[in-house]
Amino acid sequence: MDYYSDLYESLINISSQYNFDKIKKAYDYAHEMHEGQYRKSGEEYISHPVAVAKIVAQLELDTDSVCAALLHDTLEDCKDKTNGETIKKLFGEEVSELVDGLTKLVDIHFENREEESVENLRKMFLAMSKDIRVIFIKLADRLHNMRTLSAQPDEKQRSIALETMHVYAPLAHRLGIQKIKGELENLSLKYLDPIGYDEVKNDVEHRYGENRDFLENAQKQISEKLDSEKIKYSMSGRVKSIFSIYKKMYNQGKSFDEIYDFYAIRIIVDTELECYTVLGIIHEMFNLIPGRFKDYISTPKPNLYRSLHTTVIGRHGIPFEVQIRTWEMHTVAEYGVAAHWKYKSGDADKENIAEKLKWIRTLVETEKGDADNDEFLKPLKIDIFEDEIFVFTPKGDVISLQSGATAIDFAFAIHSEVGNRMIGAKVNGMIVPIDTVLQTGQIVEVITSSTPKGPSKDWLKIVRTSEAKNKIRQWYKREKRTENIAEGKSMIERELKGFGKAYTEQQRDEIISNISARIGMSDPDDFYNSLGYGGMSLSKIVPKLRDEFIRVVMPEGDDKLSDISGNMSVTYQDNSKKQPHGINQAVIVDGIDNCQIRFARCCNPLPGDKIIGFVTRGFGVSVHKQDCPNAIAGTSDESEKDRWVSVHWSQYSINHSNSESGFETILQIYAKNSLTVIAELSNLLNDLKVQVNTLNSKVIKTNKMLQITINITCKNTTHVNTILQRIRKLEDVSDVTRGFS
Ligand code: MN
Repeated sequence: MDYYSDLYESLINISSQYNFDKIKKAYDYAHEMHEGQYRKSGEEYISHPVAVAKIVAQLELDTDSVCAALLHDTLEDCKDKTNGETIKKLFGEEVSELVDGLTKLVDIHFENREEESVENLRKMFLAMSKDIRVIFIKLADRLHNMRTLSAQPDEKQRSIALETMHVYAPLAHRLGIQKIKGELENLSLKYLDPIGYDEVKNDVEHRYGENRDFLENAQKQISEKLDSEKIKYSMSGRVKSIFSIYKKMYNQGKSFDEIYDFYAIRIIVDTELECYTVLGIIHEMFNLIPGRFKDYISTPKPNLYRSLHTTVIGRHGIPFEVQIRTWEMHTVAEYGVAAHWKYKSGDADKENIAEKLKWIRTLVETEKGDADNDEFLKPLKIDIFEDEIFVFTPKGDVISLQSGATAIDFAFAIHSEVGNRMIGAKVNGMIVPIDTVLQTGQIVEVITSSTPKGPSKDWLKIVRTSEAKNKIRQWYKREKRTENIAEGKSMIERELKGFGKAYTEQQRDEIISNISARIGMSDPDDFYNSLGYGGMSLSKIVPKLRDEFIRVVMPEGDDKLSDISGNMSVTYQDNSKKQPHGINQAVIVDGIDNCQIRFARCCNPLPGDKIIGFVTRGFGVSVHKQDCPNAIAGTSDESEKDRWVSVHWSQYSINHSNSESGFETILQIYAKNSLTVIAELSNLLNDLKVQVNTLNSKVIKTNKMLQITINITCKNTTHVNTILQRIRKLEDVSDVTRGFS
């Protein structure tokens, strides 16, 4: 049989724009590769890739997709004759990537999985596909395999049908390919419950056979009316699929006669107003079944589906459903469910869905418009799982982790005992460092010791997931109480010393027992332990510590210490340590001699800035920029107005602006979220010989921009302005300001 002319006939009917030379070449190559191989049905193997290519063309995919469909089984089934390199040489990068993507998916097996892990496998499937065309071709491949499933042995039929039902049909649904979805479901059902399938099929044929022209008739009636009302519309009719009826009958215990939407008609119009107009017309023409009218336009479904549904009685008392929607609603209905790849229904986050829909919309638009060289679906990379990865355990279970997760995160995701005993890791069979960042599709194995060794505290800095962090902390809490208590004590000592006033051990104990009682811990050792293993953060305790310190150590203090930087933390004290010797002379407080001064962390004043001082109780004068929000608020507060004093930079600070020492300041940078921007930034600061004290970055949820906060040491305002200018010139940087922390 001449399979090629068969293929050519099909393709030319769809479009004359296909590159037939390339397709013929791919066909000849696949033919040669599969020479001597046969399908279970006895047909030549090439019949399968050709059939898949035809389905792919019906999906309006491009030339490269058709070629990839023809070649899709060559890498897997003809390993001794060809390889990816050869395919690339012969058919180019695109085709070779598609074939490669398809071959990788062969290794994902869905048989006999729990519901939950099937969901993960579906995601992994998508994550590994990278190019949406791979999924379309894979669906076409599966559809043809389902159509020819009868040639397979019984046992295989069942497992393939089950996998199709659980994985491929939902995928087709989410991609909005309702036709493939319906056929996959029906075919699966046929093999999973042959008796039930036949029963429903007979019922359908019987009912439909009696009223073969029912739908056409109803549509004609409606058309006449809509035309006379001069409404522009598009209308289609369908009979409910065997699988959908089966599902209703068996899952919801309904009888065939209770299925009111066996026949359905869909009307698509231009505007929302027209939807309601058409609804009115339908209700005028037919009697409606009470309780079946649904207005999903004013109350959309959680997946953003919008439409009007009503069920009316047609000829011979047969009910049928009418769905009315605009083109826009139709698009969302067809593709919007794709948003659920990531978000289970119910807890749908509207903003994110809107974002995902944008992606889907580009899919639709690319499909329709953009007549560059052919009108087919362009390559579309899938990046919906940018913040999630999927890896295998050696047994083949899929574990989903935050992207950036390491082998250590993986170990703790399996079980805390696995993490606690971890001494090494293997990725795809190779030994790797345990802090290796994992990628989707890898098989990860944890090497454990027979005796629990316990996680290293350094792992807290490496792990990405909060699960791993918590489990490591839990271990320390349990196993290292003595060490934790000692660590907690020394943290407290450091903090108290930072307050700059002597205290006795007794006073310290009083402070701590007061605080632990206030947060519900009867034993101060529990408090130290909690601080020591990191269950409680020091910065949260500091305000309480200050309050108690004032009360116990400085009882003459008449009210609570009111330094403005209320969230003074351990960094405050570090800061004062880091400030170069003699800094006291940098600022002169008018009217007060030899005063201890400190620069407020909230605004980090630099020589050159206009400044103002605040007299704290026991901490000297804290210096703010005049335009610091805290200073503005404070100076207008009657009760503390007197504490604000004028200060100015001393000659010392001006003379020494070129010395090695400097002042800390904070910069806020907004940049495009690219991999290189942080590297470019540190290179620049390095070139400028600017000391970087801390650098933090985070992605802003709403616009996906990168916000980078850096703490640097610089000389004065002139210096910082130069730095700002240089940073602003970086390509990916959109804004940079001297910020408040
Ligand atoms: Mn195949």
